[in-house]
Amino acid sequence: MTARILVVDDIEPNVRLLEAKLTAEYYEVLTARDGPTALAMAAAERPDLILLDVMMPGMDGFEVCRRLKDDPATRHVPVVLVTALDGRSDRIAGLEAGADEFLNKPIDDVMLFSRVRSLTRLKVIMDELRQREDSGRRLGVIAGAAARLAGTGGRIVIADDNERQAQRIAAELSSEHRPVIESDPEKAHLTARGPVDLVIINADARGFDGLRLAAQLLSDEATRRLPILAVVDPDERSRMIKALEIGINDILPRPIDPQELSARARTQIKRKRYTDFLRNNLDHSMELAVTDQLTGLHNRRYMTGQLAALVKRAVKGGDPVGALLIDIDHFKKINDTFGHPVGDEVLREFAVRLASNVRAIDLPCRYGGEEFVVIMPDTRLSDAERIAERIRAHVSGAPFRVAGGAELLTVTISIGVSATLDADDTPDALLQRADAAVYEAKAAGRNKVVSRNA
Ligand code: GH3
Ligand code: MG
Ligand code: MG
Repeated sequence: MTARILVVDDIEPNVRLLEAKLTAEYYEVLTARDGPTALAMAAAERPDLILLDVMMPGMDGFEVCRRLKDDPATRHVPVVLVTALDGRSDRIAGLEAGADEFLNKPIDDVMLFSRVRSLTRLKVIMDELRQREDSGRRLGVIAGAAARLAGTGGRIVIADDNERQAQRIAAELSSEHRPVIESDPEKAHLTARGPVDLVIINADARGFDGLRLAAQLLSDEATRRLPILAVVDPDERSRMIKALEIGINDILPRPIDPQELSARARTQIKRKRYTDFLRNNLDHSMELAVTDQLTGLHNRRYMTGQLAALVKRAVKGGDPVGALLIDIDHFKKINDTFGHPVGDEVLREFAVRLASNVRAIDLPCRYGGEEFVVIMPDTRLSDAERIAERIRAHVSGAPFRVAGGAELLTVTISIGVSATLDADDTPDALLQRADAAVYEAKAAGRNKVVSRNA
């Protein structure tokens, strides 16, 4: 995935250097030489990330950052402040201005790309959630409660066997949070499975490997959404890089600055609560709007919206999108012979077989009646054909047990396959090709996969 990055610096060679480094890694780069230009470009171009120099004549980086974070149109764009080496006071002022990250000058390539990668990845998630929030508002299911979510009163686990350091962190945080210290990594992991908002891990603990604990938290379903702050010695560069690589949210360099600690804790907690809120409230209230009630698959409305976005990306040179249109053969006969409720059972059982034969990122949907569509991101025609054949075989290969087990029905399906073609392709055209292919499959005797892409 590529991202658009706005580089802001008053010194031409600095801009050029960053531009060259980022372009070499296939990022799209926009540049600005002063604050006002940066603000205008951020609003007009909606970059995915802003690298912002602090020291600029006229409007400095802090002021630019504050304005970006005050404007609802640009608030969600992550800002990385580029500060002077050892600019501790700059960092604190930057956090207060709402900056998401920092890089020291001269910029280290590994740090640059770690931070850019992790922030652009986070932005993709936030964009997705905000999009859902927007459609939720239109549907009247959300009342702007996200505004209530603060970064205080957090439940924080401090995983550290250095008693003095852990006590100092806990004391500092206890004025606005509820910290608990765990010196044993297994106990820390267990506690983190409870109601917790943040885990702070000493990456240089004596009795355990802090980064291993972090990796375990990130792979455990119960804890993988918890933000993790790692306390790292800034001289141990490879530890820092490793921490970022395994997916830690933020690094706290030692010796720990109390203000930096509380600012970073607050930011992480706020971000977690925001995403949790959107996830919990929207997934349930929006479920009705996006789910087919009989089968539990996505409905046509949801599929149409997702398909439009995917095709738009595909025709601009992004990953191809594959589509399957599936129609159950002689379904009317099932209804006529066994009754409508048995027809419904067949639809439900078919949905289970369909969903269990596609990847997690694919979108199986009920298109209407006994017609289904599967949208497959990042899938070429030949791969889509293979998946279609697998689904066909799994449906016809074993009979459907219906009517409380009283009936065993052999069900077959006809599948039409298509994939995005070129810059002129549209979602409608893609589905029409799949539809024409279904028609051919029916004419050729049913229980068949036919693809059509012209
Ligand atoms: P073909 O092989 O040509 O696709 O034949 P078919 O009988 O499957 O196709 P047709 O389009 O003639 O019939 C589809 C039937 O599906 C008609 C409709 O009553 C039935 N149907 C549509 N929605 C539902 C539903 O939710 N539940 C049940 N039980 N039947 C449904
Ligand atoms: Mg039909
Ligand atoms: Mg049919």
